Amino acid sequence: MRRDVNGPGGSGSPKFAFVAWLAARDRLSTMDRISKWDHRVDETCVLCKREPESRNHLFFECVFSASVWEHLTKGILLSNHSNVWQDIVFIISDERMEGKKRYCLRYAFQAAIHAIWRERNKIRHNEKALPITAVMKMVEKGVRNKLSILRTKRVKG
Ligand SMILES: [Zn+2]
Repeated sequence: MRRDVNGPGGSGSPKFAFVAWLAARDRLSTMDRISKWDHRVDETCVLCKREPESRNHLFFECVFSASVWEHLTKGILLSNHSNVWQDIVFIISDERMEGKKRYCLRYAFQAAIHAIWRERNKIRHNEKALPITAVMKMVEKGVRNKLSILRTKRVKG
């Protein structure tokens, strides 16, 4: 199967890319948006239970999300590391960044958004959520698998 590595978001996973695409347009049903038409809802973020939930809070200003994101990307971004949505979007869109590094970051971005959104939905639907360390490991494993697939492809092709 042919995959467009340089397509929108530079993704290899349509499922991850779709959630990230919705997040980029602020179209996920975060509580700040829901509360605009339903004032009775509790806007509190279910992950940290401290602050109101919004796109920017979930990705990645929330203490829960921030630690997942930091775990994944601190080593790549070093002093450029940020957990502020606009900064991250700016960083991953920087065409001057080395291709492999940017690809890796974009993939991590989509994988982290997907995993955090899924955990958030699980809690909202009263399902058992994973501990944060498990979420970190899961996303990290996904990113590593993705990179090793890329490496194998490069050797073959
Ligand atoms: Zn939170």
